[in-house]
Amino acid sequence: MIQRSKNMKKPFAMSIIAAALMVAGAAQAKEVTDADILNDAKTTGDVVHFGLGQQGQRFSTLDKINTKTVKNLVPVWSFSFGGEKQRGQESQPLVHDGKMFVTASYSRIFALDAKTGKKLWKYEHRLPEGIMPCCDVINRGAALYDNLVIFATLDAQLVALNKDTGKVVWKDKIDDYAAGYSATAAPLIVKGLVITGVSGGEFGVQGRMEARDAKTGKMVWMRPTVEGHMGYKWVNGEKVENGISGTLNATWTGDLWKTGGAATWNGATYDPDTNLVFAGTGNPAPWNSHLRPGDNLFSSATVAIDPDTGKIVWHYQTTPHDGWDFDGVNEFVSFDYKDPKTGKIIKAGGKADRNGFFFVLDRTNGKPLNIFPFVKDITWAKGFDMNTGRPIYVDENRPGDPSGSADGKKGKSVTAAPSFLGGKNQQQIAYNPQTGLFYVPANEWAMDIWNEPVSYKRGAAYLGAGFTIKALHDDYIGALRAVDPVSGKIVWENKNFAPLWGGVLTTAGNLTFYGTPEGYLKALDAKTGKEVWSFQTGSGVVAPPVTWMENGEQYVAVVSGWGGAVPLWGGDVARRVNFLEQGGSVWVFKLHNGK
Ligand code: CA
Ligand code: CA
Repeated sequence: MIQRSKNMKKPFAMSIIAAALMVAGAAQAKEVTDADILNDAKTTGDVVHFGLGQQGQRFSTLDKINTKTVKNLVPVWSFSFGGEKQRGQESQPLVHDGKMFVTASYSRIFALDAKTGKKLWKYEHRLPEGIMPCCDVINRGAALYDNLVIFATLDAQLVALNKDTGKVVWKDKIDDYAAGYSATAAPLIVKGLVITGVSGGEFGVQGRMEARDAKTGKMVWMRPTVEGHMGYKWVNGEKVENGISGTLNATWTGDLWKTGGAATWNGATYDPDTNLVFAGTGNPAPWNSHLRPGDNLFSSATVAIDPDTGKIVWHYQTTPHDGWDFDGVNEFVSFDYKDPKTGKIIKAGGKADRNGFFFVLDRTNGKPLNIFPFVKDITWAKGFDMNTGRPIYVDENRPGDPSGSADGKKGKSVTAAPSFLGGKNQQQIAYNPQTGLFYVPANEWAMDIWNEPVSYKRGAAYLGAGFTIKALHDDYIGALRAVDPVSGKIVWENKNFAPLWGGVLTTAGNLTFYGTPEGYLKALDAKTGKEVWSFQTGSGVVAPPVTWMENGEQYVAVVSGWGGAVPLWGGDVARRVNFLEQGGSVWVFKLHNGK
């Protein structure tokens, strides 16, 4: 068209056409479609969704960086989140149309040129005094949809920005931060819906999943994750009842369900094969289990929700009647495997639970297929009964009832492993279909835990428990473990002195990338666990790496910035790692000279 315009007689006409072209060009910034989201795991030119795809496998088919070439991996750029606002940086970057979108501590988000690291825009959410995030002022990442980038904030809001300008398009309040609500997980996008959970299980909030129209922020459905609460949907803007979750008072006595917790603070995954959203739910509130007899559904569980109806299709409780704050929020990652006996392909899902067990469930119905420990010390249960799917409790290892103690103020203290910080916490696992292995950033630690009396007070901690976290070994707490979901065997492990708190990426280049609180981004041979590359990022890594391809070159990125729950809640372990420095930056790497 420019060629043709040269032939025009009037220069005036040419400038009009040029101007028109420029306007068209500006408007043509690529929008993120449902197909882009659905195909994210297969398309290597971008990372448009948390988890490198809705299933959350964190697997990339890219192999330009592999066990042979990774030695040439060098930094391309680094960008500082700046200011005094450091603390934990748990964010997974998104990459689309040559731009990176990365959230940072204190509800900030940056848009950067993915090739150069040049800042394009920044949005800092105005946070009120009195927010109550339990586990540091972190954020785990944003979602992209249409021309929007959407993220959740520490004061329990959702903010949608124009991804090209950083200007607010819509905002919506999830709930009242003064009652203990906050939000830190990356939103899930499913068929034009933005699906989010809530944080606040330590304040007796009402756990739930919510779906909004991603373009407008208008509510579509809300599904409570505490049994007894009414679900809702919005029809033509009208809020209508959509059935109670479970049955009122079936697993909760009296009014306890009203403040039952089961916070969905770690977000959810989605499997298009079964059309199910898998949300993890946290502890029942309060922690003191003697105050709430029963299984306390749907706490410490995986809940499968139909995104079209907002109804629970199945649930599987990993810690019924949780008395250790094991939560069950860990991500449920869809994968298929061949049954070794029948040769049939099984549609499964894997979950490394905070309670120390790895669960392989049939993802069509939630039935357990395999359950095995992925940490060495587990005190609360001997294992699981595969017929009932329930744990075989060790009753004497449940913290005691304070009402039975001499002064009624402190129940019997027990040493429990794992600690409530979990065999695995928020740090995401990855599944590599080529090795058939899950890569689990595991931790070996214990806690002394005891119960105390407590009653609910709005906006106050609702635990009824005291605790101290302890290391179990002098030389390590963390261990990156390769876990075979079919045999239940740990194939290899790579130990780490500090607890691991960052997620994993695995690639067709036979590599497994993860970061350590000591500041290293590492690459291991995915089959053997042998370390083949590492780089010191300057602060602790507590976030998951990503990879993508641009102009024929493969890039790797990770956020660096020590923090999260460990320094705040870690007791003896926090003291053990208090030499670690804070920070806040994103690092990008590629092969030197492209080789
Ligand atoms: Ca992609
Ligand atoms: Ca919890």
